[in-house]
Formats: sequence, C-alpha cells, structure tokens
Amino acid sequence: MSAAAPLRQSIRAEGTGWFPRGIHPPEEKLHSRYRPVMSLPAPAEVRLPLSQHAGAPASLIVKSGEEVAQGQCIAEAVGMVSAPLHAPFDAKVGRPVKITLPNGRRVDAISLTRKPEGADPGPRLWQELCSDAKSFATCLEMPADIILDMIRSAGLVGMGGAAFPTAVKLSPPKDKPIQCLLVNGCECEPYLTADDRLMREAPAAVLAGAVLAAKVLNAGRIDIGVEDNKPEAIKALRSWRPDWPGRMRVRGLPAKYPMGGEKQLIRAVYDKVIPTGGLPMHVGVAVINVSTAAAIAHAVRFRRPLTHRVVSVTGPGVTQPNNLWVPIGTGSDQLIEFCKGLTPSVGRVLSGGPMMGMALSELTVPVTKGSGGIVALRAEETKRPEETACVRCGRCVDACPLHLTPARLGQAVRHRRWDLAARENLMACMECGCCAYQCPAGIPLVQLMRTGKTELRKRVTRAGAA
Ligand code: SF4
Ligand code: SF4
Repeated sequence: MSAAAPLRQSIRAEGTGWFPRGIHPPEEKLHSRYRPVMSLPAPAEVRLPLSQHAGAPASLIVKSGEEVAQGQCIAEAVGMVSAPLHAPFDAKVGRPVKITLPNGRRVDAISLTRKPEGADPGPRLWQELCSDAKSFATCLEMPADIILDMIRSAGLVGMGGAAFPTAVKLSPPKDKPIQCLLVNGCECEPYLTADDRLMREAPAAVLAGAVLAAKVLNAGRIDIGVEDNKPEAIKALRSWRPDWPGRMRVRGLPAKYPMGGEKQLIRAVYDKVIPTGGLPMHVGVAVINVSTAAAIAHAVRFRRPLTHRVVSVTGPGVTQPNNLWVPIGTGSDQLIEFCKGLTPSVGRVLSGGPMMGMALSELTVPVTKGSGGIVALRAEETKRPEETACVRCGRCVDACPLHLTPARLGQAVRHRRWDLAARENLMACMECGCCAYQCPAGIPLVQLMRTGKTELRKRVTRAGAA
C-alpha cells in the first residue's frame, strides 16, 4: 500500500453528521437572523490593533499626519506568520495608541481619522460582495500562485475567531497534502447570525472563495458544513455550482454546540478523528470559515483587502439587534449606538457569543478581523449559580467534546498541580464552555481552564529560556 493510501481514504470517508458529547444550548438566533445586513455609516475614527491576528504584530509603514487612501496598506506583515493591515477609508494617520483587546491583552494600535470629504466606501464594498455568480465566475480561472499572493497581500485571516493568517493556512508543508477543503458555516454559538446572513446575501462570494482556496490547496473536494437551523443559507449556497472539476457539496448538519469547532466539524463531515495535539492537515483537511471564503473572493475578484466585515449586534440587551457591515477598527460603542443603544436591563456586553465570547471591559474596544458579534445579555442571564462543592455528578465529563475530565482539571488548577494538569491534557482544552454550562455546582470551569493554560504556557516559556 502506498503512503498516500490513508489520505485517499479520507477523501472517500463520509461522516454521520455527528460528533460525540457537546450540548444543546438555546439558539437565540431570532433576535437578528431576519435582519438583513446594513452598512454602518463610516465612523469619524477607527483604531486598528497591529496585533489582531495570530503571529507577529504587523509593522507600521505610515507616519502620524500622513494621508492614506481607502485600501492602502498601512502596516506590513512581519515574518512567516503575520498579516498586513489596510485603511478602511480615506484618512489621516493619527498617533499610535495602546488598546485593550477583549481577551485582556494590551496591544499597540494606530488611529485613522476619516477625511470628511472622502466617500464612505462601505455600501459599495458590500454591494461588490453580494455580486451574482456570473460576476464571481470570471475570477475562477486565476492561477493558484497569483490567488495565494492576493490572499497574502489582502491581509486575510481566519474570520471565525482564530484569526490565523489565511495564506499560511493555505500553504501546508509539502508532506501534508490537503485533499478536502471544509468550509465552516455552522455558526453554532447562540445569538450570532453574521455568517448566516452572509451566506444568504453573498452566497456566490462564499462559493467562489471556496473554489479559489481549493485551487491554492490543490484539494479535490469541497464540503460546506452548515447547521440545519439555517435552511435559507443552505438553499442559497445550493443555488449555484461554480465551474470546478472537483467535488463540491453543501452539507446540512444537526445543530449542536460546538459543531463549528474544527475537530467536531471534521468528525461530523468526514468521520475523522484528529489526534491530541494534531491539526486538520494531519487528516488531509483544511478548514476555513464562510466569511474568510467570501473575503478571498472579494480580494481576488475586486482586488479588495480585508477592511470590513459583518458583525451581529444582538441579544436582549440591545434595543434594535442588527447585522452590520462595518469597517474593522470601529469602536463597539458605535455599533451599539447605531442599534439604538443598550436596554436598561443589560447586564454584560460580550465580544463574541455567550459560550466562547469575552466580556468587554470597555465598550470602545474596536472590532477586529476575527470578531463576528457583540452580544448584550440581560443581568439575569449573566447571573451564575452560587458556587458549591463539586458533587461528582460527571455532567462536565459527559459534555466535553474533547473527552477531557473538566472536574479533575479544575481541581488541578485550583491546587496548582501543574504536573497533573499537563498530564490530563489541559492544553487541549478549546475553552468551549460545555462543561461550565452543565455544571450544577456553578464551578467556573472555563475560567479555571484559561488560568491553567496561561500558567502552563508560562512554564513552557520559562523552561525554554532556562
Ligand atoms: S471548556 Fe475545555 S474542558 Fe470544558 S468542555 Fe470545553 S474543551 Fe472540555
Ligand atoms: S459538573 Fe460540576 S459538580 Fe458535576 S462533576 Fe463536573 S465539576 Fe463536579
């Protein structure tokens, strides 16, 4: 049997649409799923973090006071894993500033002040993204190396949250050939509807972007996984079959959290298990988000760098939930203001959904390339049950999609048993929140996992430096 045989098997494999464990939290999509995407009027100022992607921060190539045009590169990628940044509108470069990201990291950022006489490019860019199949069909013949260059120079990163530079993801090592491109349209986090609206309103961009990415990867098969609570999106994506010799399928999947996790999605679609510490490429698969796919098509067909994205502003704490097309770098407060503000009952505002999102310490935190939602919850929804001792019910174990033992890991972190935490695979935890959601004792398991992972990382760094 040749060495490539197991990988060829992965092409044939069909998943059952299922992954073990996980949970079924209330979907709460109705707040915004019927709100078509609106272009947010360009704000007077954006603040662009230089580190809004995985890898090295981008390096500024413009100076304070300089005038820049819409789409102009203002910070270039540094090293192999990084991404450049571009101006979302004609602007004057302000001073470098420090901002706090939702995850608490203080990072360098640059402010851009919009030129008052400059046009708002938002509506035109959104219109381009919503172009029909005929328009996007024209870019599918582009050679793979040119597509990859365009993706790299457009500053594309994973827009599902991880923000890993797309050009790097689409350039796997030679000994890890990719057979299948898996496009993630699950959007399994409660409340969020940005990807749903994008698939419904810009399906041709999603499909064309998937074909362009598959060309770069030389993959023979594309699967687009969408949870079956988005029937309109599935229908829209099935309305066009781009001219492409490989196999392409839009697959409806049962709604279950966290179906949008890479490992869970690969299990559901291909019945492949990624070993602990492994990556999708180890089973011949690359996964990109639907927003990333659309941004690829936008970059290749219209030569547009990544300067705008769709963001859901939703939840019972928002007066008028919406899906907005916004310049990256816009303060979250401006999106909320456009949605007529917060309700008096609001208790917490999150960047991202309630399962994996982070509480915003200040509402001015800017939208980044990886942020798909702002969710405002009422005070009563954010109340945690008073914490009691673990009753050893095992519900956290039954919920964990990665087969970890959250109760034991939580104990290990509390008692600073770092050896035990490492042995029990704490670093594999994806912080999905299933364990904490199920825990009747109100134990803050995810916070414990995050604390423990931070400590283990520090220890590895210290050991490396010693
Ligand atoms: S947060 Fe971590 S430990 Fe808890 S269920 Fe998710 S993966 Fe498992
Ligand atoms: S769900 Fe909570 S109470 Fe039950 S075993 Fe896990 S940590 Fe303990």
